[in-house]
Amino acid sequence: MPRHLHATRGSRRLPALLAAGLVLVLIVVAGVWIFGRSGTTAGPATAASSPSAGAGSRTATPTPSPSATATPGATRVPASSLDGLVPDFKLPPIENGLAPVLTKIPTEQKVVFLTIDDGAVKRSSDVALLAKYGYRASLFLANAFIAPDPAFFKQYTAGGSLVEDHSMTHNLGFINLGYEAQKAEICQMADFEEKEYGRRPVFFRPPGGPYTESVQRAVAACGLKAIIDWEAKANAGGMQYQVGDKLRPGEIVLMHFRPEFAQDLGAFAAAQKAAGLKVVLLEDYLGVK
Ligand SMILES: [Zn+2]
Repeated sequence: MPRHLHATRGSRRLPALLAAGLVLVLIVVAGVWIFGRSGTTAGPATAASSPSAGAGSRTATPTPSPSATATPGATRVPASSLDGLVPDFKLPPIENGLAPVLTKIPTEQKVVFLTIDDGAVKRSSDVALLAKYGYRASLFLANAFIAPDPAFFKQYTAGGSLVEDHSMTHNLGFINLGYEAQKAEICQMADFEEKEYGRRPVFFRPPGGPYTESVQRAVAACGLKAIIDWEAKANAGGMQYQVGDKLRPGEIVLMHFRPEFAQDLGAFAAAQKAAGLKVVLLEDYLGVK
């Protein structure tokens, strides 16, 4: 009876702890009673469990508070960089055990993708600069470069950028390695990044860019979805294009964590604005976050 009264009028105002405490007391009382009778467990047990179920649904009211503490982080960076844009290109599937290769996204949509490689230079000022431009990038990190301080790159992922796979040792003769060695380089880095950053990479970029069918096969075998290369670079403070003299829709741009980060990013920003393109995260566009 008092249980009932408490449930109807006190639930809103009483803190969850108090309610839980009361239920605990009730359970203990019920338990003592059960042991006292030392036999008929079934009847009283269900009686004791029903108020605790009631308390469960009551304590459900405060549950929004833990999820509310998660919201500030989420509201700082919107979940997607697409901003309502509906992509018109889909990532080709793995066929015959070979991961697809993309050097540019075949689209006329006014988008451009920024990728930043290696991880040699680690400066918080570069993190702040990327945020100031409002860019998110796919970061192709190699273990050899980030090993001294892998956690540094969490500053980038906190801003919405994503970490991808650029091998363990950054061997520039990657295509000359045997299949098993290539697979070990890719899989081990994917495992490392998954552990360090809490997300398994989906893309691989071979050191220096060259790839063979063997590399495509190893990428797929490690559970990754595509090889991502490029047709434009922000390099030595300027832009370099494999085709034409400006950024095209769907362009994948390569940059590096180098001392000239600010100049390279400035060159990219100027080219991006001149071409009227929006910087979108490649993983968002391809739906493979
Ligand atoms: Zn590299």
